[in-house]
Amino acid sequence: MDLPPPVNTDPRRALPAIHEFAGEILAEDPGVLDWAALEAAQQVVGEARSALAAGPGEASENQIPQGKELWLRRGLQRARELAVERPRRVLNATGVVLHTNLGRAPMALGAAEAAARAAAGYSDLELDIGPGRRGNRLASVCQRLALASGAEAAYACNNNAAALVLILNTLARGREVIVSRGELVEIGGSFRVPEIMERAGVKLVEVGSTNRTHLRDYAGAIGPETAMLLKVHRSNFEQRGFVKEVSLAELAELGRDRGVPVVEDLGSGSLEDLAPFGFPAEAYVPRRLSEGPDLVCFSGDKLLGGPQAGIVVGDADLMASLAQNPMARALRLDKMSLAALHWTLGAYLSGRAREELPVLRRLLTPSGDHEKRTRGFAGALGERLQEKNPALNVEVVENRVPVGGGSLPGFEIESWAIALMAPGGAEALAGRLRSGAVPVLSRVRDGATLVDLRAVDDADEPLLLESLLASLH
Ligand SMILES: *Cc1c(COP(=O)(O)O)cnc(C)c1O
Repeated sequence: MDLPPPVNTDPRRALPAIHEFAGEILAEDPGVLDWAALEAAQQVVGEARSALAAGPGEASENQIPQGKELWLRRGLQRARELAVERPRRVLNATGVVLHTNLGRAPMALGAAEAAARAAAGYSDLELDIGPGRRGNRLASVCQRLALASGAEAAYACNNNAAALVLILNTLARGREVIVSRGELVEIGGSFRVPEIMERAGVKLVEVGSTNRTHLRDYAGAIGPETAMLLKVHRSNFEQRGFVKEVSLAELAELGRDRGVPVVEDLGSGSLEDLAPFGFPAEAYVPRRLSEGPDLVCFSGDKLLGGPQAGIVVGDADLMASLAQNPMARALRLDKMSLAALHWTLGAYLSGRAREELPVLRRLLTPSGDHEKRTRGFAGALGERLQEKNPALNVEVVENRVPVGGGSLPGFEIESWAIALMAPGGAEALAGRLRSGAVPVLSRVRDGATLVDLRAVDDADEPLLLESLLASLH
């Protein structure tokens, strides 16, 4: 008996062949790189195959391009995305100077150049040039840190999380560390103090309650196994109401009496006193040291305004033991960050930090100057918009912005912003601003899209203006 030939209904046979598809992507735009075209073809076909396997549904239809034109468009778009250098440059119009998602502290150009020089050439990173012997890569940067903070000694490593791990592991491995329950915080990005302590090999002893911890709680918990009293700065939240926290000075005194080292993880620390400008006094590292702890650690790329780094200042003997821990090598500062930190500390030592470091310049911009600049920019934008769409509304409004980056919780800077009311809504406009050639990050408040120039360089204003005009149609 003759059967009809089988009809192949497997839709997977309709998927394009990878190499052919990659070839078509390249033919469409010869500027696309070979590797990106091939990878894009693989990804797009792979997604369509998974969608087919998952069966019909809205989600799967989205993943199967319908028709040659759409296949090609998707492949080309993916290939271009793959070839973009990352991280991409963005304009930060949120007003938040230390924006965690936007790379935290922007460094001074001088610091960035120092990093680039260290990266692109040879240096005496670990050489004592005179005698031609092996040198210590950290000696000079730690000397500057000690000078700028008034500490006996200093140490620097990869970031502040690493600094805390190194301190815990060096001073308390296999022993107990006492922390207030109100300070067992999560900093974000899954950095949780109790978990870090466990991984660092120390035993956490919690004292007090979430909202109230007394000196007697610490005192009562000190025993023969106690290796450290740790204070952790609540970087990203505030406690109000019925609260009691033991001051660093009280804790330091208790530690001295009982012969137990006292360490503070300050998180965000500055080597410039910002209190005269209305900022919380607690961030000034020399002031924290004067309260008497043995060690204080903080980040290089928060208020300090330098590269990513973990900085420890305080007692010289403890510092020497940090450097001797074999883990120090795994957490060490790289040469680019080291060069940038060295330059940044130079700015502090010579009293130029407030002019030279973008973080300080932007945080300390006087409200009146900022208002004037904002009104000038809004005027220019309004004029250009008049020609385009007189119905659009541009207004200058008061704004309040956090410092950001886990610094100074609850504290806000009085700022100014341009409020844009576009048809289609504030979120939609914010989305269009993000999708421009150079993405612009704004904030949405009360149905308006707010553009704050605080963290935008003067030199970037023309670019920002064009981006706004392109998005306001
Ligand atoms: C930010 C922060 C950290 C982590 O610092 P990184 O430099 O990001 O590793 C640790 N502890 C506190 C209290 C912080 O605020």
